[in-house]
Amino acid sequence: MEKSTDSLSLKKYCVPCGSSCCKISQTIGSPIISEEEKEKIEDYLKKNNKNINCYKRIDVDDEHYYILKENNGDCCFLQGNNCMIQEVKPLDCQDYPVKAVYEDNKIVFIIDTECPASDSLTPEFIEEAKKIALKCMNQFSSKTYNHWLKNFVGWVYKTNKKLD
Ligand code: SF4
Ligand code: SF4
Repeated sequence: MEKSTDSLSLKKYCVPCGSSCCKISQTIGSPIISEEEKEKIEDYLKKNNKNINCYKRIDVDDEHYYILKENNGDCCFLQGNNCMIQEVKPLDCQDYPVKAVYEDNKIVFIIDTECPASDSLTPEFIEEAKKIALKCMNQFSSKTYNHWLKNFVGWVYKTNKKLD
């Protein structure tokens, strides 16, 4: 979630960490991507003369979302330790390690305690990440969003801490 100000940048943690949250075959799982986000990424790739089919479509009733395919365990958009779609990366990647989840029909925010930056996030970062997490969640019905959490996100049920 790189931002321009120091309080919103995780760079000093992400560089030594080696983008472990982009190694989507491990417990971390895949980001969720809406049709609109997919189109935005495809437009970006087309402008940059790249043609990468990285998506797997998941249908839930009459709704759908996409997850990202892996390449030897890495997200297929990971090049070295860099995201090749940084400018248009999914909301779910932007808010990490924060996530919005449903609990007893209420929305709560959690953080992945496995992220090396999770203990050091500034209040500004957390507030911004919560807004993005909510925006991501609101792209889908609760059933579809929960389908993704249950099937494609490992950490949400294992290494999370609730945020205030
Ligand atoms: S796991 Fe945390 S520290 Fe590591 S790359 Fe991801 S956001 Fe950065
Ligand atoms: S889209 Fe980019 S930020 Fe998101 S998991 Fe893939 S490489 Fe990482």
